[in-house]
Amino acid sequence: MNHLQSIGKHTACVHTGTYRDSRVPGINTPVYTSTAFEYLDNEESIYPRYFNTTNQEVIVKKIAALEHAENGLVMSSGMAAISTVLLGLLKSGDHVVFQKGLYGGTFHFVVAELQKLGISYSITKGIEEDDFLAALRPNTAMIYIETPSNPLLSITDIEMVANIAKEHGLVSVIDNTFASPVNQNPVDLGIDIVVHSATKYLGGHSDICAGIILSTSKRIAEIRKMALNLGGSLNAQTCALLERSIKTLALRVNQQNSNAGEVASYLRKHEQVSRVYYPGLKTHQNHNVAVRQMSGFGGMLSFELRNLDPVKFQRKLNLIKPAVSLGGIETTICSPTMTSHRHLTDSQRKEEGINEKLLRLSVGIEDIPDILQDLDQALSLDI
Ligand SMILES: *Cc1c(COP(=O)(O)O)cnc(C)c1O
Repeated sequence: MNHLQSIGKHTACVHTGTYRDSRVPGINTPVYTSTAFEYLDNEESIYPRYFNTTNQEVIVKKIAALEHAENGLVMSSGMAAISTVLLGLLKSGDHVVFQKGLYGGTFHFVVAELQKLGISYSITKGIEEDDFLAALRPNTAMIYIETPSNPLLSITDIEMVANIAKEHGLVSVIDNTFASPVNQNPVDLGIDIVVHSATKYLGGHSDICAGIILSTSKRIAEIRKMALNLGGSLNAQTCALLERSIKTLALRVNQQNSNAGEVASYLRKHEQVSRVYYPGLKTHQNHNVAVRQMSGFGGMLSFELRNLDPVKFQRKLNLIKPAVSLGGIETTICSPTMTSHRHLTDSQRKEEGINEKLLRLSVGIEDIPDILQDLDQALSLDI
């Protein structure tokens, strides 16, 4: 366990990892742009694609402290992190259990690439213990989960999955993007590897693309071998932007938790809304699990319009922008049917519980009356 676990999250966001150049009394980490480094006096060659530059190490220290992990690799995107973990730890003949309701990019990667490499997989029918147990095979090597899930915010019991993995000698992996390290720390619940799309909450301003892998130093060393070959490393300038962003991560996410809670309560009472999916609502199917494993319920929620046309509704919004991606300081809305789940057939979408009336909100840090006012005027649209 990391010794930094004892400091508060806001403090870790602001301070952990900052590199002080002894020759310059500045209080921020300098941006070292070099991609060529002198080698005569260094044991190890430094190079961005070796994941060992100062600006990369600063990010890893900061996020590892927030996730209570020993070590990590900062990557050029969330998908670079996810594909590197899968390719780095799986081999031909292995089988993987993926949780139902994976992020679209991960699902596409799994379907397009794994079979070619002789890696088989199952997708669970649900998210209960029996669903995971039923998917295990003698050659299963890994369980991979995502909670809260996209776009229906289902909550998988992380500790339950970690225990199944331990009992069967499997590696457990979680995509912790939706929760962010502020709301959920899977390492504490027994998960082996945590991945994030840092494009979302960690970046938080809808202006950088990055990812991160976190685990023990031993596992990170193993994954790093594949990372060097695939080459999905992050440049110094983006590392510096990410470092600055994370200084306000806990502030932002706490505000987003609070705003999303208010939006969920508001929508649940609105006559034009037939359903709200938010883990913080007592009516959420797995609310009790969420209470146990999350310290905040996050800024993501989904809802179904009762009668209104979803496209007209989105056009009527002023402050809230219809946009893909999530986790920024601004509130955005998107239709899974028109974006992430566009390529699924109607019956596949039905199986996932997604229809054209469903909209997903990524709630930002604006003043809550302004967010509610915008939703209110759009919900009063004439049909
Ligand atoms: C966006 C996202 C990813 C992929 O991240 P990129 O940075 O776009 O590559 C993976 N998982 C989840 C849950 C995401 O939201």
